[in-house]
Amino acid sequence: MLITDLTTPALLVERDVLDANLATMSAALPGPRLRPHVKAHKTAALARRQAAHGHEGFTCATVRECEVMAAAGLGADLLLANEVLDTRRLGALVADGARVTVAVDSPETIAAAAAGGVREVLVDVNVGLPRCGCPPEKAGDLAAAARDAGLQVRGVMGYEGHLMLVPDPADRARMTGDAMAVLVRAAEEVGGEIISAGGTGTYLDNTWATEIQAGSYALMDTAYGRIGHPFGQALSVLGTVISVSPGHAVVDVGLKSLGMDHGLPTIEGAQVWFCSDEHTTFAPEEPVRVGDRLRVLPAHVDPTVALHERMHLVGGETVLETWAVDMRGW
Ligand code: PLP
Ligand code: MN
Repeated sequence: MLITDLTTPALLVERDVLDANLATMSAALPGPRLRPHVKAHKTAALARRQAAHGHEGFTCATVRECEVMAAAGLGADLLLANEVLDTRRLGALVADGARVTVAVDSPETIAAAAAGGVREVLVDVNVGLPRCGCPPEKAGDLAAAARDAGLQVRGVMGYEGHLMLVPDPADRARMTGDAMAVLVRAAEEVGGEIISAGGTGTYLDNTWATEIQAGSYALMDTAYGRIGHPFGQALSVLGTVISVSPGHAVVDVGLKSLGMDHGLPTIEGAQVWFCSDEHTTFAPEEPVRVGDRLRVLPAHVDPTVALHERMHLVGGETVLETWAVDMRGW
């Protein structure tokens, strides 16, 4: 099949760029130094490619992601880096032989883990992102409570997500060090082997974590493209030009096929004006014609992928493989 045969909008992944990104990352963070976050691509076939680069443990954001990973035979060491109250399906996964470690940051999440049949947890510590994570001074007490509840405490996690897109590398490194000092201190109180943190923005700066939870690096987006890391834009949304007017044109890739929370998408050789449900309006530098195909580059990978049922692995004009985005939904 050729790219021209695809119905648009269609999610494309440039194979050579993807493979280069995976190789670059696994050279920097080999084997267990990287625990790839699957939420960025939600695709078991892509996780399998990451496993082939030597990473056996994965990070998940949802119970559904854990289930699909386990069903794909990739459940040897899953970290659900998120708080979960409804642990019934996780207990079933553990009973079926998957290893699932769950983040906890409260007595309630500890009770839910223990009641649901989860055996292993990490204490999630707030390192400056106002999201999940306990106050650092509470981490030791929570670890004790988890052990009292019969849970194995493998260590801590603390996601410095507020620092990922800090543009100046020196600022980013310094702020990451400050955030990780908090996590390392909490780790001493908690015990265990694991300090899990980091992402694509801080994968080199964060030398304190025992494992880095990066996900976006595989496919990339234009927001991450701006910070100068050695990862290429593998992901795009293929569109068809459906209307041309003097001074602007319209492609059939809109809000419903693009994650927009990091801003407008990019079209090479064009100025993007705005997006609506099924349209992106842009001013091309060179004339375009109705029926032309072009690639729209999303500003944020994770919510873009989650809108699509499948992604097409492409090389040149050929569709090499089509993968189900099988970890979508909840
Ligand atoms: N860890 C957690 C808990 C996250 O929520 C995220 C992304 O938001 C990441 C790690 C890293 O992802 P990325 O590679 O996109 O920076
Ligand atoms: Mn993201």
